[in-house]
Amino acid sequence: MFCDEALDSVEAIAAGETTAEGRVADHLATCPNCAAALVAARQLERVLQRRGAPAPPPQFTARTLARVRRARWRSDQFVDVGFNAAIVVLVVAVFGGVWMLLNRTGLVAVSSDAVDLLGTGLVSLVRRVAPSLPLYAGAAALLASALAVWWWAERDVTL
Ligand SMILES: [Zn+2]
Repeated sequence: MFCDEALDSVEAIAAGETTAEGRVADHLATCPNCAAALVAARQLERVLQRRGAPAPPPQFTARTLARVRRARWRSDQFVDVGFNAAIVVLVVAVFGGVWMLLNRTGLVAVSSDAVDLLGTGLVSLVRRVAPSLPLYAGAAALLASALAVWWWAERDVTL
């Protein structure tokens, strides 16, 4: 168990990024396996330092950045298309739901016969609309969720 901890820091110690301290130093002094691992890591470090880092090809940074930018743009496009498709589906669903509601509750007939209905009063309108109040609530909830998704996506984009 403690060998794992010591071996995790062996590379950093060999590279000089950290020094062996406390429990790790005690363990490296007493455990032949971890001590051998440290010796091997130091040898590898020395070999790597002797070789030196190869120089990057010309325009490496510019080309890499251009590639990163292109990949990011592509993923942005993908997200945009998906978001727009989701919005279109939501809008169609909301309008379809509202249209179905109007058809079902006879509100279309109500609006066209509004002048006639004014005579008989609001009572009949309320009587016709009241049973479908849950449907109105559902449509309002659908609209609210669409707005919530829109708000969430906009907030995500501006971050
Ligand atoms: Zn050990």
